[in-house]
Amino acid sequence: MKTIGMLGGMSWESTGLYYRKINEETRRVRGGLHSAPIAMVSVDFQEIETLQHQDDWAACAAILSDKACKIEAAGADFLLICTNTMHLVAPEIEAAIGIPLLHIADATAIQVKAAGIEKVGLLGTRFTMEHDFYKGRLEQHGLQVLVPSDDDREIVHRVIYDELCLGKIRAASRREFLRIIDDLQRRGAEGVIEGCTEIVMLVDQDNTGVKLFDTTEIHAIEAVAEALR
Ligand code: GLU
Repeated sequence: MKTIGMLGGMSWESTGLYYRKINEETRRVRGGLHSAPIAMVSVDFQEIETLQHQDDWAACAAILSDKACKIEAAGADFLLICTNTMHLVAPEIEAAIGIPLLHIADATAIQVKAAGIEKVGLLGTRFTMEHDFYKGRLEQHGLQVLVPSDDDREIVHRVIYDELCLGKIRAASRREFLRIIDDLQRRGAEGVIEGCTEIVMLVDQDNTGVKLFDTTEIHAIEAVAEALR
């Protein structure tokens, strides 16, 4: 089995979910006491979040590229950036390393299409919902992507940073997310991508009849498949 590189800590709440899911999937597939060979660097998210909100993507790219090189040097065969948002600087990170990057939007698009869905809703940080690096990548796979209204994008963004990344799960926020998911469905979305790795902590498939795509799980499972290829 290849060694999975994890660039984590954004936030550590979801990196914990990745670590568990990768190992659960490895045990499911390989049995016994098998667990996944992993090389991980986990960053201080406060530093990254400050730079994001200053729109200093070049500084984010420099920090994450440096960490990715350390992960490669530690023996990783390929890299996961364990957050949707920071794929905004995926091209810079990819250019800095000699190992392949397993892009979260590619893994997700493949699952959405496998479910027979063409028009999909997208929830995530404002960066993910509004910049082209993520929507555009999904569209390259032939998907049509719907995002919430401006006011609802603000709610989703705020809940991610002020609650989920701090491990706070609030019933009122769950109700808001379910309303926003229903609204996307009313507008024609056949499913909704949880395009932020913490959203599954708040809303999972048990909470709604709308088909959800949990990017944390999708990325983790695809990583194990890639490690075993
Ligand atoms: N983990 C989140 C994501 O998947 C948000 C935190 C971040 O900005 O990296 O987008």
